[in-house]
Amino acid sequence: DRLVGAAADDADQAVEAALRPKLLDEFIGQERVREQLSLVLRAARKRGAAPDHVLLSGPPGLGKTTLSMIIAAELNAPIRITSGPAIQHAGDLAAILSSLTEGEVLFLDEIHRMSRPAEEMLYMAMEDFRVDVIVGKGPGATAIPLELPPFTLVGATTRAGLLPPPLRDRFGFTGHMEFYAPTELEKVVHRSARLLDVEIDPAGAAEIAGRSRGTPRIANRLLRRVRDYAQVEHDGVIDRQIAARALAVYEVDERGLDRLDRAVLDALLRLFGGGPVGLSTLAVAVGEEAETVEEVAEPFLVREGLLARTPRGRIATAAAWQHLGLAQPPHAPG
Ligand code: ATP
Repeated sequence: DRLVGAAADDADQAVEAALRPKLLDEFIGQERVREQLSLVLRAARKRGAAPDHVLLSGPPGLGKTTLSMIIAAELNAPIRITSGPAIQHAGDLAAILSSLTEGEVLFLDEIHRMSRPAEEMLYMAMEDFRVDVIVGKGPGATAIPLELPPFTLVGATTRAGLLPPPLRDRFGFTGHMEFYAPTELEKVVHRSARLLDVEIDPAGAAEIAGRSRGTPRIANRLLRRVRDYAQVEHDGVIDRQIAARALAVYEVDERGLDRLDRAVLDALLRLFGGGPVGLSTLAVAVGEEAETVEEVAEPFLVREGLLARTPRGRIATAAAWQHLGLAQPPHAPG
């Protein structure tokens, strides 16, 4: 339920479909992936054949699902969407694969979370467009080969490093998605505002973009909260001041830190002089579980260069003191 969380919540899902760019040209940022993908797709269209399988890797909310839909749209092909955790048994995958039509795009989100037997079935399907369906059990079991129509697999993962090499090797193209630059997120905000019929000026869009943690999903979510504020407290038009005031109400600061992030930094600086301090001690100080601090707050603080994990414990950097407006004591680490 975090306003600055990167995973989709129910409210996001309800509006995201409307905000998704439909074609490669409308997709903002990710220059390199876009250019490479455009080549792959144009070559496939020219050959009149299904393109190589595509792997998209990167953190949540950067547009992997969107890109997979764009791939299908650019190929004028239907798309089937499923995810690794939804495929518990090889039979689940066989059912999906055998119902694909020629040229269809199969989007497999969180592909690293598929079961091992399903993964092995996928190897053969990707390479030979064939699966062996096992009928029966024990010594009497027989493998019935099943031909599949050529299809394009688009796999998405937040952790490309977790994929077994045989699976990784079967993708002809891997696109690494990066966090978006603030100027790119400004474009995302302007585009979404237009689609949501919200008036926003450039400084207002920049204010939202700067707090969106490099992630379009978060930018779209913050825009919706700011829109509410602008409509209730003002005339509906978003400028810098309205955006800043609205996001202050939601406790998202200029750098995109929320209440939890700031509580962790605050404890690290004020109670422990900038560290080093152990994770569990820090967690007790902010009244949270150690896992919450480690998995929810720390990754972004580390990415922003505000906190470092060292063998002796967590330490704050000079930027952390600066961000919270505190004077760094002479002997503090960082
Ligand atoms: P997850 O892995 O959590 O499913 P994802 O990487 O698949 O996330 P998407 O669902 O594709 O992310 O994108 C999230 C939202 O961000 C969508 O509403 C989409 O419209 C928007 N978005 C993502 N990338 C872009 C982009 N390049 N330009 C405009 N909007 C974008």
